[in-house]
Order: sequence, then structure tokens, then C-alpha cells
Amino acid sequence: MIKIVSFLFLLISFAYSATFEELKWPKGETFLTFLGKNTLPLSIYYSLDKEEQELAAEIVAGVKYQVLKNDQQELEQILIPIGEELQMHLYKKDDKFVMEIIPIIFQEEALSLSVEIQNSPYVDILKATNNYVLANEFVQSFRGGVNFRNLQKGDKLVLFYKQRVRLGKQYGSMKIDVSMVETARKKNYIFFYKENYYDKNGKELENFLLGTPVNYTRISSEFTTKRYHPILHIYRAHLGIDYAAGVGTAVRAAGNGRVSFVGQKGGYGNTITINHDNSYKTLYAHLNGFAKSLRNGKNVKKGELIGYVGNTGMSSGPHLHFGLYRSEVAINPASVIKIEKNALSGRAMKDFIDYTNGLKQKVDMALKSTIAPKKEENFSYAHLLEKPYM
Ligand SMILES: [Zn+2]
Repeated sequence: MIKIVSFLFLLISFAYSATFEELKWPKGETFLTFLGKNTLPLSIYYSLDKEEQELAAEIVAGVKYQVLKNDQQELEQILIPIGEELQMHLYKKDDKFVMEIIPIIFQEEALSLSVEIQNSPYVDILKATNNYVLANEFVQSFRGGVNFRNLQKGDKLVLFYKQRVRLGKQYGSMKIDVSMVETARKKNYIFFYKENYYDKNGKELENFLLGTPVNYTRISSEFTTKRYHPILHIYRAHLGIDYAAGVGTAVRAAGNGRVSFVGQKGGYGNTITINHDNSYKTLYAHLNGFAKSLRNGKNVKKGELIGYVGNTGMSSGPHLHFGLYRSEVAINPASVIKIEKNALSGRAMKDFIDYTNGLKQKVDMALKSTIAPKKEENFSYAHLLEKPYM
């Protein structure tokens, strides 16, 4: 209860204070340098536990964070998003600054869109909704699916999607439950089902397959975007998979790409990031060392040696922390690491058909009705897209 009250107070004070600021996290800034710059006690950083230090290393350049100052222009509170579900909350407790990790509060709204193609699906979605996130997600989901070159003016497009809303603004990334493009009287569907996009026959459409980056003995920690510890009453997240393996075990690029970072990254210790196609990025942390020829900007092939398992940064034992991001948002690597694309069968296929039949009915109804699409005016991205990645 105390938590809820203090959070409400937080919202109210942010809403009515004249000294509320929204700022962009600078490139190259770490949580530690941030504390130094704002003359906040560095002990906040050094007293973080292992999981918190990993999360502190997840702050993304360009993310919008919020600062509240009092009448004397002294810092009162700071909110820094980590991923899309949690944020660091720095505030004064008994005249001393402390940090806690709290959830980002948002609502979810279910929406639909039904339009005739005039230009391209991307342009028409944008015109109807002014929603870049939706237009981008549509293009992303249809990759490896339907060939858009055969589309004609007047072909129909129907989407059912859910989006997050935070303080009245469209917020964060989204998934489209069903996309339907009707061309030459044929309905082409894409469904989002259990973390992946599928066609109507239950065939997975993800066209980005990753290899396992290390030969591991066991998975010591799974991916989670938000977890509440019922005894300690704290929130945590683990934005990757931990693979336990001996020090010195080879770490290999999970896919073809270009190295975008080699070096120290706070609680992650020695870290490599690689940018891949389709706005994916992989991260390899706690490394003992890097492959000799590895440089920022180097092109690497899937399976190429890039480094060695270690115990650097905040780590309780030798392991590889492996992270996967789409447009800077952490997603579960387990949904993308596999030998081949899934095709549903048996019981799973039956469940899928039941699920998608309901969505198909909704699409048919949307084709007959004329509901005005929701036009977005305000955006609040945790991870600000400077421009859409089309
Ligand atoms: Zn980890």
C-alpha cells in the first residue's frame, strides 16, 4: 500500500511541478558517470547487487528520462527507463539519495484498422493512424510472408493490434495480433502467436534465425522483462539468457552482422554487441577476452569466434549473458534461437487453428464495417526511434 501511495505522489508531483524536465540520455553516459555529473553519491552504484548492475548497463542512449527539481533547483527525483517495463527511481529517503527499481505504469488498448491500399501498406497505415510503430511492425511481420509487388490499388488491409498507452501517449513496441491483406480476392494472413509470427497454415515466418552462441553446460538464468520478488518486495528483470560454461569456452556470433561495440559495459564487464539485419542486435557479456582480430565495425559470420566465456563485470560465476534486441528493445532470445523455423502440428496446430479462426471472424467483420481508425498524436517511446527504420 505504501508503494502505491508513494507512486501516486510521484505521478502527482511530476504532473504539477513547474520544475519537471524530460531529458535524453546522452551517448556514452553510464549510470556511474551520470551520478557523478549530478553530484549524487557514487555509493548508489557501488551498492547495487549483481542483477541491478546488469540492469544499469541496459540504459540506452537516447532514452527519455525524467527529472524533478524543487524550488531551489535541487534534484528531488529521477526516473530512468530500463527496457519497456521497469525504471530506476532515484529519490531522497531520510535526506539520502537511494535507488529502487519500479514498474512503468501503462494501460493496454485494443485497436483495429481497415483501409484500402492507395500507395503502399506502410504509407497507407501511416496516413490512417500516424502510428510509426504500427507501420514498422507491419512491414517487419510481413517480411518473408506475402510479396507486396503484386498489390493493386483498392486491395484491402485489416489489422488488429494492441498497444500500450502511458500518460495518454502511445508507448513502446507492439505486436499485431492479425494482419490481413486481400489481393486478387485472396486473403493473406499473418498471426502473432506465442512470441512469433505465423502464416495461416501454422508455419513460422520469422526470417531471422540465430545460432546458439556457446556450448553451455546449463541455462543458469532465463529471460524476463519483469519479475516481482514476493519476499524482498523488489522488482527485477533479466534481459537475456545466462549460459553457464567454463572460462575460456569459445563464444561465437549468433548470426551474420557487424560488430557495433567491443569493450567494458558497466555490470556486463567485457561486452560485444553485433548489429544484424532487420534491426536486430545481439549482446555477449561477462567475457574473459575478445577474439584477436575483433574490432568495432568488423563484419562477422554466423558461428565465427568472437570471444571467450568469462566472469567479468558483476557475475557470480563463469557464464555468457546473451541478449537479443529488436529496435533497441530486449526480446527473448529463446524465441529466435533455433535450428529451423517451426511448423505447428498435432495438438499445437489445433490450438492455433482455434485461435486464428476467432481472429479471422473479426477481420471479416472489419471488412464490412467502417470504423474510423485511431489517429495517434502523442508518442512516448521508451526507446526513441529518431526516424522510422523503413
Ligand atoms: Zn545475465
